[in-house]
Amino acid sequence: MFAFDRFKGFYVTLGEMFQRPTTVQYPKEERDKGHRFRGLPVLVTDPNTGEEKCTACGLCATACPNNVIFMTSEPHATKGRHPVRYEIQAPRCLFCGLCVEACPVKAIQMSHQFELAATDRNNLLYDKATLLELGRGIYDEIEQTSDGEWVEVTRFPDDRVGR
Ligand code: SF4
Ligand code: SF4
Repeated sequence: MFAFDRFKGFYVTLGEMFQRPTTVQYPKEERDKGHRFRGLPVLVTDPNTGEEKCTACGLCATACPNNVIFMTSEPHATKGRHPVRYEIQAPRCLFCGLCVEACPVKAIQMSHQFELAATDRNNLLYDKATLLELGRGIYDEIEQTSDGEWVEVTRFPDDRVGR
């Protein structure tokens, strides 16, 4: 019985040796992130003008359950207002997406940025310029589904969907 169990163990080990590994060599290799993966919330720009979409209405900061978003604003010639300072304290973010849902102009999106480790706490405070840089390449487009329905989808730079 003991020999049989051993043989069974070796058989399983041998079988696994010829399987493709389920692990990847991160950070050299990365798994595909799901389309709806929620990384750090970032600010997005208008793909046509390249300008920030945020109108500094403050709804995202109000909706945030953990007071992660801080902003100051000033008047803007075309949008009414725009943010002067816009900061996200990454360590306190719950990645809940409520800020994204609250935004009336889709100026903030959950990015696919998840590599947020830092040795200095100050590096975990993301300012407006960094958030805009991280949001570059994220945009919305209208797409027809297989059912013939037109829906708005968000595209990400590393998005595999639709490629
Ligand atoms: S994802 Fe949630 S916790 Fe993070 S900034 Fe947005 S509302 Fe706040
Ligand atoms: S990101 Fe959206 S909700 Fe937040 S202040 Fe800007 S426009 Fe308003």
